[in-house]
Amino acid sequence: MIARFAPVELHADASKLSAGDQKALPKLLDAARVIDDIFLTQVWSGNPALRRKLVQDKSEVGKARLHYFDLNKGPWSELDDHVAFLPDVPPKKLPGANFYPEDMTKAEFEMWADDAARGFFTVIRRDADKKLRTVPYSIEYKSDLSRAAKLLEEAAALTPNKSLQEFLRLRAKAFSSNDYYDSDVAWMKLDAPIDITIGPYETYMDEIFGYKAAFEAYVTLRDDEETAKLKMFADHLQEIENNLPLDPKYRNPQIGALAPIRVVNQVLAAGDGAHGVRTAAFNLPNDERIVQKMGSKRVMLKNVQEAKFSKTLEPIAKRVLGSADQRDLNFNAFFTHILAHEMTHGIGPQNNVRQSLKELHSAIEEAKADATGLFMMQYLFDHKLLPAAEKSLYTTFLASSFRTLRFGIHEAHGKGMALQFNYLMDKGAFVARPDGTFAVDFAKIQPAVRDLVHDLLTIEATGDYAGAKKMLDQLSVVRPPVQQALGKLTDIPTDIEPVTTSR
Ligand SMILES: [Zn+2]
Repeated sequence: MIARFAPVELHADASKLSAGDQKALPKLLDAARVIDDIFLTQVWSGNPALRRKLVQDKSEVGKARLHYFDLNKGPWSELDDHVAFLPDVPPKKLPGANFYPEDMTKAEFEMWADDAARGFFTVIRRDADKKLRTVPYSIEYKSDLSRAAKLLEEAAALTPNKSLQEFLRLRAKAFSSNDYYDSDVAWMKLDAPIDITIGPYETYMDEIFGYKAAFEAYVTLRDDEETAKLKMFADHLQEIENNLPLDPKYRNPQIGALAPIRVVNQVLAAGDGAHGVRTAAFNLPNDERIVQKMGSKRVMLKNVQEAKFSKTLEPIAKRVLGSADQRDLNFNAFFTHILAHEMTHGIGPQNNVRQSLKELHSAIEEAKADATGLFMMQYLFDHKLLPAAEKSLYTTFLASSFRTLRFGIHEAHGKGMALQFNYLMDKGAFVARPDGTFAVDFAKIQPAVRDLVHDLLTIEATGDYAGAKKMLDQLSVVRPPVQQALGKLTDIPTDIEPVTTSR
């Protein structure tokens, strides 16, 4: 079970930080470790005691149990549908985690709940007389949150960066006031060499209602090289829109403001940000009042992406590409295409596309972002805005499509990838070789990508639900050569386990 996670060291360069930031950073790492403690109790009330017990067991099996417990932040295996891997614990993760009393029914909650009970930042407990009661996080986790708040304030006093000071002070205040609004606004404006996300955010852990936010932290450093690349992309985005392979009447003469994107390198992730399959990118905040006012911010963890690339995509490429093509696999091409993918969500038809394409929208939109991302990079190569690297771009895209298809075609990214893969196969731009490997036909790939972008954008521009359905029905399938190739990948790690080694 543990072997499915390849251990990997993450690197982030702190040497260029100012003296003040160098002193602030360890304080923030300590604050993130407090978040781990809170998250552990949020997952299950029995977690802290169980972990203490596991730490004392020095046998081989005891050490393995602790190791896998820490990977999952609890006694249930996430890759195996959350079944227990330890004795004497509930057989599956509790759907309400530790946000609600274990014996509470949905109906009981619905009969009783007010707005506060449905809020992001409260837990539900039972009084001595068995009545339900709402407890704010600021009370439930008071001692841990005041420890974390003190560390954030100490870091704020050390960093010279104003936007970081502002966020840390407001977030420390939110931990005791339980009102996160002002600090979420400050997080949207945060622009600093140390980039930090810390607090209660995602609600996936609450599988009963999806109301309750789990605590997480990402302590990261801004990547200046990629930040400059993003700015170059943004400066040319209207130009790329004006040149899309799409009937000019559907092109957007004035593309809207883009949601901010930050590229960072992770120093430490904690709590909900550090269990099971690791987060490589996230969009926050979830507070709709802020999303409506300022949009949301996308944070991309470059060194986490790089670790996944080397531990999963490189071994996949060794089996699906011919040996001569393997040297064209390249992290820079992989990551730049991910950035292009994110940017191209913001170009092409935007009006009523979701409403017209309904449940087919997300698969079409993900395929569009991938294909238009390839188109955009080719455009930048052709106009000497990026160093030309066609071989790396298309070969890396071919190999990475297996990484996506490996997780199945039951969700939007897998469906969108299968559609693109088969479209490019049918155009002869991807080729299956007799020895079971795959290759790019470089004479055909550029026109094939243009056609694909044209077809996807036209479906979106015309809101063509029937056309989207036809395309997905025909192409969003796993055909026999791909199935055979996927069968050869089963022993490759599913994901990574970031580890710290002393040096
Ligand atoms: Zn996307």
